Amino acid sequence: MKAILHIFNYTCGNCGKSFQAPAALHSSYGEFLMRSERGAEAYLNASQDLTYSEISEAIRRHSAVARLKARKQAEVVQAIFSSLCDEDSDGSEFRIGRLPACPYCGATQISHWEATEPPQLVEKELAAVTHKKWDGLSAAEKEAFLNEALSRLIAV
Ligand SMILES: [Zn+2]
Repeated sequence: MKAILHIFNYTCGNCGKSFQAPAALHSSYGEFLMRSERGAEAYLNASQDLTYSEISEAIRRHSAVARLKARKQAEVVQAIFSSLCDEDSDGSEFRIGRLPACPYCGATQISHWEATEPPQLVEKELAAVTHKKWDGLSAAEKEAFLNEALSRLIAV
């Protein structure tokens, strides 16, 4: 799918060089750019992904999550969703919110980032993230996966 992305400026926390990389333009509407460890990108439109809404509801209903602040709840949902998506060909997770690696030294510590202003936009052809493995699980397996992920992420 074609996605309109917003170019951000990043400063590497390791070598100090600056570089540009895209981020989702409409993240407030549930559109996310997901990245694997090697920097491959996949797109997620959360409002159109039934699995996203399904697990988001299930997780937010959980008593240990319901008492968290909205921002933390969103982080938990995004982390768990990332972990159930099909992996990149290098075996790493496509993660919502994973920052790009420095193109100069390969480090993933970013010391500073900001959106270009006025916004520089770029149109990119991106594959939608998939979760075929998850789709094939039984209801009981899905529940077990969510419970295990929740106990890993928060004290339940
Ligand atoms: Zn660097």
